[in-house]
Amino acid sequence: MSAKLIKGTEIREAILEEITSKVTQIKKKHGVVPGLVTILVGENPASISYVTLKIKTAHRVGFEEIQDTQPIDISEADLLALIDKYNKDERINGILVQLPLPKHINEKKVLNAIDPDKDVDGFHPVNVGRLMIGGDEIKFPPCTPAGIQEMIVRAGVETKGAEVVVVGRSNIVGKPIANMMLQKGVGANSTVTIVHTGTKNLDEHCKRADILIVAAGVPNLVKPEWIKPGACVIDVGVNRVGEKISEKTGKKIAVLKGDVDFEAAKDIAGYITPVPGGVGPMTITMLMLNTLKSLQFKLNIVE
Ligand code: NAD
Repeated sequence: MSAKLIKGTEIREAILEEITSKVTQIKKKHGVVPGLVTILVGENPASISYVTLKIKTAHRVGFEEIQDTQPIDISEADLLALIDKYNKDERINGILVQLPLPKHINEKKVLNAIDPDKDVDGFHPVNVGRLMIGGDEIKFPPCTPAGIQEMIVRAGVETKGAEVVVVGRSNIVGKPIANMMLQKGVGANSTVTIVHTGTKNLDEHCKRADILIVAAGVPNLVKPEWIKPGACVIDVGVNRVGEKISEKTGKKIAVLKGDVDFEAAKDIAGYITPVPGGVGPMTITMLMLNTLKSLQFKLNIVE
């Protein structure tokens, strides 16, 4: 293996330590800590395990965490009223509604009801607009793209003038990370191409990339010969390709693979993220960072 491994698990630890220390300072000076509420409707097992991890992480960094679980048959009006309550709650700096919501509730309507200044997921149209404008306008970059950018910066990869190719145009990964990488500023200032299912000659675009960010959800889509020698390869894909017995717990767990043929790519790339343990751990970490930022904005703390 010649590529340097960019480990999300290690970067997560460093960022969570930084957040914890800032929370301690704010508590000492202002007597408050960031408050995060997670609204979970129903008992979807995947949602429960994700929410449990969020709560654990929020506690670890010293946040006040409210877990608000609602019955599966809650009406849309009652859910909107609940969001309104948290929008007005001074203790709350971040509001998360765990998706998916049951079919009788309009997801878009619910997400758009969150106060954009408490929208720490960064999916509200106001925050999408702020991201597009860039610079000081940005309040809450969406968590997975923010995590990707942080990994590139912390690995010391030059982004200014770099050819960045993003595979995938979703609203949660592809479009926002492409938008972030083309802004002026640290960890950006790149020349960006987005490729997708409508693109001709996908391989030719990928071969040009100094930084290749892949978020397609197709296992082993990117072949080793598509990678420019020395490139930085960020594999966002998380694909369940089978099951195995965990050596740690003895329980059945999913076998996960990325969108890049890691085994072959690691000998060509200069930097590469593993799956699992790469981009995955960054999402909740950046959610914590956005929640901290939300309180810092409120207290006019400039860093
Ligand atoms: P999505 O399905 O919404 O979007 C996938 C995009 O990839 C689409 O825009 C599509 O045009 C493009 N695409 C699909 N197949 C392609 C092909 N053969 N050639 C070119 N383009 C192709 O997916 P998403 O929500 O953006 O997620 C992408 C992957 O990233 C998934 O595996 C998902 O599980 C993973 N993901 C991981 C994290 C994390 O680690 N924290 C967060 C979000 C998504």
